[in-house]
Amino acid sequence: MIIEKEIKVVEQMITIYCRKKHKAKRKTLCPACSELFAYVQVRRKYCPFGENKTFCSHCPIHCYKKDKREEIRAVMRFSGPWMLLYNPLMALSHMRETAKMKRKIRTEIKAVAREEKERAANEAKETP
Ligand SMILES: [Zn+2]
Repeated sequence: MIIEKEIKVVEQMITIYCRKKHKAKRKTLCPACSELFAYVQVRRKYCPFGENKTFCSHCPIHCYKKDKREEIRAVMRFSGPWMLLYNPLMALSHMRETAKMKRKIRTEIKAVAREEKERAANEAKETP
């Protein structure tokens, strides 16, 4: 997923969360939520997975600090269902990307496991 697109999804989720939970006005975020969003953007920019990385829940490296991660999780849990209502296209494309990435990660894990097994088998053969 492209970073800009992901940031947009996160922004939308935080906006929904803030509006419902903190009674923020349209198109604004309360100080706590703007700080969280700023944090997400900065961390995201320095993520080693860069352009190829998907949403952080599927990322093997957790680039959010623990407390921030909890906050983000709360936002996503809360706003996920709302996203379908407010922005079905974005939500659907996000779900598709997520499914695709999960599949890709599974396939890669299998491939690595297979290679490991073959390597171990070969080593066993070579040692008399
Ligand atoms: Zn807020």
